[in-house]
Amino acid sequence: MTDAQAALHGFAQRHPRWVVLTGAGCSTAAGIPDYRDASGAWKRSEPMRYQVFVSDAHARQRYWARSMLGWRTMSQARPTQAHHALAALGAAGRIALLVTQNVDGLHDAAGSLGVVDLHGRIDTVCCLGCGARSPRAVLQQALLLRNPGWAALHARSAPDGDADLAQQDFTQFDVPGCGQCGGMLKPDVVFFGETVPRERVASVRAALAQADALLVAGSSLMVYSGFRFVEDAVAAGKPVVVVNQGRTRADAVLTLKVEQEVGQALAALASHCSMPAPPAQTAAHPVAC
Ligand SMILES: [Zn+2]
Repeated sequence: MTDAQAALHGFAQRHPRWVVLTGAGCSTAAGIPDYRDASGAWKRSEPMRYQVFVSDAHARQRYWARSMLGWRTMSQARPTQAHHALAALGAAGRIALLVTQNVDGLHDAAGSLGVVDLHGRIDTVCCLGCGARSPRAVLQQALLLRNPGWAALHARSAPDGDADLAQQDFTQFDVPGCGQCGGMLKPDVVFFGETVPRERVASVRAALAQADALLVAGSSLMVYSGFRFVEDAVAAGKPVVVVNQGRTRADAVLTLKVEQEVGQALAALASHCSMPAPPAQTAAHPVAC
């Protein structure tokens, strides 16, 4: 066992129940790219902003064309070692609440219960007109039917179900409206420039108030929507541990930092923590878009 692993196990013994916050680093092993490099800087141009999406029809054509190709990777992604380890830690009663910045649904797929999807889910579409929600897989069929010539294009997968597809005339891409009201469809995710629903934040804060510590896994915490929980934990005098390779926004306030591959570190922690379970995991109820 490495010194870092031993320190993590000691931390887990002293602080038995955690709120766990996960980020893109938990899903890169599933083939879903992340946004940032080890220094926390953007690897690519900034992702879609809400105001651009709702105000620019061409931006929406471009978004859905890339998403149609990126969905192949996203829909086939399977949970990683990190997701399975966290599901095991949850089943062992060590996780008060699991909150993720990822939109890929892989914690659910691994069997974790009560997951708060802070930034929503890419496998769901919502209508900005009537609020109806529908499976992304259904929209995929509509996109393919309307745009058969685009399906054969090859594009490298990008974060959040996006794909690198440049040099195309996106004005020819046919984007369907809501099947119920004809309104504008949007992936049920929180775009940059959009606010995380307050109920999700409140449920995490309530769980954190009852937990012994905050454990961050696979996130650089560069986005404030996740970093705020570090601030909450610090303000409440609760320890914060991060398992992440590379710089994080919280480095100055961490109780412990484990710079290891997140899947390996969590798998070792899960096998270490196979001990009698405290009370059952707290259920959370993410709200509609
Ligand atoms: Zn609608």
